[in-house]
Amino acid sequence: MNYISTKGNYPPVDSATAIKFGMVPRGGLFVPESIPAIDFDRLRGMDYGGVAYEILRLFLTDFSEEELKDFIAKAYNGERFDSSRIVPLHFLDDNTSILELWHGPTAAFKDLALQIMPHFLTTSARKLKSSREIVILVATSGDTGKAALEGFKDVPGTRIIVFYPKNGVSDIQRLQMVTTGGNNTSVVAVDGNFDDCQNMVKSIFADTQYNAILNNHGFELSSANSINWGRLVPQIIYYFWAYLGMVEKRSVFIGEEINIAVPTGNFGNILAAYYAYRMGLPVKTLICASNINKVLTDFFESGIYDKNREFFKTSSPSMDILISSNLERFLYEISGHNALKIQRWYNELVKDGRFKVDQTTAIRMTELFVGGFADEKETFDEIKRVFDNYGYLVDTHTAVGINVYRRFREESGDNTPTVIASTASPFKFNKAVYRAVTGDDSIDDEFALLEKLSEIGKMDIHRAVDGLKDAEIRHKLNISTDEGRRVIKEILNIK
Ligand SMILES: *Cc1c(COP(=O)(O)O)cnc(C)c1O
Repeated sequence: MNYISTKGNYPPVDSATAIKFGMVPRGGLFVPESIPAIDFDRLRGMDYGGVAYEILRLFLTDFSEEELKDFIAKAYNGERFDSSRIVPLHFLDDNTSILELWHGPTAAFKDLALQIMPHFLTTSARKLKSSREIVILVATSGDTGKAALEGFKDVPGTRIIVFYPKNGVSDIQRLQMVTTGGNNTSVVAVDGNFDDCQNMVKSIFADTQYNAILNNHGFELSSANSINWGRLVPQIIYYFWAYLGMVEKRSVFIGEEINIAVPTGNFGNILAAYYAYRMGLPVKTLICASNINKVLTDFFESGIYDKNREFFKTSSPSMDILISSNLERFLYEISGHNALKIQRWYNELVKDGRFKVDQTTAIRMTELFVGGFADEKETFDEIKRVFDNYGYLVDTHTAVGINVYRRFREESGDNTPTVIASTASPFKFNKAVYRAVTGDDSIDDEFALLEKLSEIGKMDIHRAVDGLKDAEIRHKLNISTDEGRRVIKEILNIK
C-alpha cells in the first residue's frame, strides 16, 4: 500500500515513510492510495489483537506479520489496559451502546493510538536506515502529553520531552506527567501559556542549525502529531470491534447497518470511523458531535468552513478546536482524490480563514454525515440524565456525543442501533462530572472529587489517576520560554 499527498505535491511513498515523515514535506497529509476492503466474516470470534492485526496488515504492508503482531502484543494487553477486552462496549439499552475508549494508561482514547504508534515509528526509522535516536518533542495543554509519555516510555531508540504550561494544566494533569517513570522520559514546566509552549516547540523544529547540531550528536527530532497516519490507522480497529460486540449482543445481525456518533475536535476519531465504513463496515449515519466551538456543525450544514469566529473555552477542552486538521483527508476522499480542489480550499483557509466546497462535494458529505453540537448546559444536563436513567457516569466529551445523538434520534425518528464513542473516563473530568450530577460546585480538591465520584458512581477510581497524590515527583525542570534549546541539549547530554 502506498501513500499519497492530499495536495498532490509529493510522489507516492510506502507506509514506513509516511509514518516517519508524519506530514508531507511540502505540506499536505498522507492518505492511502486506495482503501482496502475487509472480509468481515474473518473477524468473527477474534479478540481485540486479532481484529487489530487484520486491519493493520492491510494498511502497513511493509511491516512483517511478526512485527505487527509484536507491536499489538506490546500495546494492547491486560497490563496496559484495565479491561481484558481492551475496549469494552457498555449497553445503555438494546439500541444504544457506549464504546469505552478509556481503559488505557491515561484514561483517554488517545492511548489506543499512542500505545502502538511509537513501535510503528521506531521500526519505520529502522527500515529507512536511520540510525539516529528519535527525540519526540511535545507541547501539551494536558492530556496529549501524558498519553505520549506513556506510549514512548522505555521504547528503545526513543526519547520523549514534554513541555507544559506551568499554570495552564490541572493538578491531576500535572501530577500525571511529573510522576511518569521510564528511563527516556522528560517533562518540563514552562513559564507561559500553552501557545507559548507550542510556539517554542515549533520554532525548535524549524531551526535547521539547531537540528544539525542534534543530528551530529546522533539525535533526530520528531513529533507524535495527531495527523500522522500512524496515529489514525489504529483508530479504525475499534469501530470494527464495536460492531462485533453489537453482533455478539444480538443488537444487530451481521450486515445490518449501525450509526456511529463521535465527539470530535480535530476530526481524527470520526475520520477513522469513515475509513472503517469505506472498508466495508455497515454504517448508515456518522454523527459528528461538537461543543460550542461548532465549526464542523456549521460546515456540514452549509458547506462553508469558517474559523473566523469567537473561540470558547468549554468543559470539554479536548474539543476546543477551530482548525480540524484531519478534515482535509476526508475532503480529499469524497472529492475523488481531487488535489487541486484541496489546494484551493486550504489556500483560502490560510488566506481568508474560510472556504466553501462546491455543490457536488457538499451533497456527498451529507450523504453519510450529520453534524450537531451541544452547548455547556446541554452537556451538563446530559451527564445528569444519563446518570439518572442508567446509573452510568460519562465525562463531558462523551456527554456531547450522547446529547447530539439523542437529539438526532428524536428529530429524525431514526432508531438504527447506535454506538457512541466515549473518549475519556469520567474521573478525568471529575469536577465537571461531579457538578453535573450533584449540582455541587463547592469542592475544588481534585482528590476529594475522585473519592466522591467513585462513591456515587459505584466505580473504582481509574488507575490512571488513583494514587497520584502520594506518587514520587520525578520531573522538576522548569524553564522560561527562551530556554527550550538549552534544556533539550542538557537532557540529551550535549555539551
Ligand atoms: C482528543 C480528544 C477528543 C477529540 O478527538 P479528535 O480526534 O481530535 O476528534 C475528544 N475527546 C477527548 C477526551 C480527547 O482527548
